[in-house]
Amino acid sequence: MNRMLAKNGVLPALVFALVLWAVPAPLSASATKINVVTSTTDMAALTQEVGGDRVTVESIAKGYQDPHFVEAKPSFLLKLRHADLLVVVGLQLEIGWLPPLITQSGNAKIQVGANGYLDASQFAEILEKPTGEVTRAMGDVHPLGNPHYWLDPDNGRRIARGISQKLAELDPGDSAYFQQQFQDFDKRLSAAEQKWDAEMKPYRGRKVVTYHNSLPNFAKHFGLNVIGYVEPRPGIPPTPSHTIELIGLMKRENCKIILVEPYFDLKTPNSIAAQTGGKVVVYLPSVGGVNEVTNYFQLFDYDIALITKAFQETQ
Ligand SMILES: [Zn+2]
Repeated sequence: MNRMLAKNGVLPALVFALVLWAVPAPLSASATKINVVTSTTDMAALTQEVGGDRVTVESIAKGYQDPHFVEAKPSFLLKLRHADLLVVVGLQLEIGWLPPLITQSGNAKIQVGANGYLDASQFAEILEKPTGEVTRAMGDVHPLGNPHYWLDPDNGRRIARGISQKLAELDPGDSAYFQQQFQDFDKRLSAAEQKWDAEMKPYRGRKVVTYHNSLPNFAKHFGLNVIGYVEPRPGIPPTPSHTIELIGLMKRENCKIILVEPYFDLKTPNSIAAQTGGKVVVYLPSVGGVNEVTNYFQLFDYDIALITKAFQETQ
């Protein structure tokens, strides 16, 4: 059969067609994609929403890592060297690891202040902005306000709009596309928000404790009351005296939920739960915290399912 086809010239033609089909797209087409690198997965997810097929996006930090403390690897330099745009969370979230990588990348486009450097915090509502003198003497890793601002869908919308405008600025020929992508995201987000708001509504005003101060924007949006933290101050590990105070506070306030980011040791949270009759809930602050959470919508779906279940179980 094959021989016959070959004799008739069908097989060689087919092979030729397959070879053509397997050849990568011409360089000019792939070169029009904007190469975006983000510091965190959440910024990557939002960039992907508005960038669609006109961008390639890669995050430096993984979703299960503490974004304050990421181990700098040489492979990050390679990513940054070829980036057209770098999107960062800002507010000094990445101060411990990103600035030397940016400098060493040797990429003029993404240096701080350059056109390809985008600090997403400028678009978002920032909570806990300091009013007095800023000092890191106490070990505070949130000196310019709380940098975990992406966990409010309204901020997600603001960040996505800001990123879409930056993409349009870098690639004016595709500006209508990026605007359309944002409008589509906005529509889907508004629908999801209605669902999330309805799911969280029965628990408005409920008290929780979090390990790190990662949830003020989430708590504000969904009406939760964060009464304390396992860390005595952001970035400072638990101390026995603070833990005793926190246990007392939770008992007085009848607070039963301890929300913990996936990168913290559960020893102290478990001991607090044991002494308060409370429940430890490991929630995700970022996309990619577990494999199945691959986009911004799934992040809220996942966390809201966990948190509402925990509230039901501790009525
Ligand atoms: Zn933090």
